[in-house]
Amino acid sequence: MELTYLYNSGFMVRDEKILVVFDDYEDPANAVDIAYDQNDFDRLYVLVTHAHFDHFGTRIRAYAPKTTRYIFSSDIKHTKRVKIFPTNKITYIKRYSNWQDDMIKVTSFDSTDVGISFMVEFPSGRKVFHAGDFNWWHWADDTRENLELAEKIFKRQMKRLDGLEVDAAFFPIDGRLGASQEMGAIEFVQRTKVKNFVAMHRVDFPQWEPSPAFVQLSKNVPTWAPVTPGEKLTI
Ligand SMILES: [Zn+2]
Repeated sequence: MELTYLYNSGFMVRDEKILVVFDDYEDPANAVDIAYDQNDFDRLYVLVTHAHFDHFGTRIRAYAPKTTRYIFSSDIKHTKRVKIFPTNKITYIKRYSNWQDDMIKVTSFDSTDVGISFMVEFPSGRKVFHAGDFNWWHWADDTRENLELAEKIFKRQMKRLDGLEVDAAFFPIDGRLGASQEMGAIEFVQRTKVKNFVAMHRVDFPQWEPSPAFVQLSKNVPTWAPVTPGEKLTI
């Protein structure tokens, strides 16, 4: 399985002849274009976790001819930007639902922001999880009520993810959260069985280096913190 960093929370995952693209609103290295033109795939699925501008953009419309399915969070249905997409190729997904065809299985979970998170299972049995904007959004200068609410909704959602087994998980390590940037990730890796942890949602911040606390509490889960668009990891 090959993971390619696009930008922000954008990734392309290749498993054998299947390409799955997540939250591709910008792709400065043209990684998806290159794969698209090489045509060395049987299926292409384009998934978007929610409508925020830094996750959903119209550039992915260009892939429609070879896209098997656009799988969009249902909040995207209400945007103007989606009107240019071919409606017969879009499946809208709400939280806690499933979609599958003869190749992949998609399971959705809730977010703690807008939209959903995704788990995708490939025919090989390999699985990936993409958090979207699901995170423990602990903004240190926020009110106590808001901090408690952020913790509550994050932990409530984590109950649904307890024991999740995936080959790779894409999860926010947002530098804007400062000292709290790993709080969600630590809880997430402790409660799941993630074989590779991939940091995302970190544009304009230096490369993430797992803190000693993360390393210890995550039991040395391998991490990848891509910063350069087009960077790849084979797992
Ligand atoms: Zn976001």
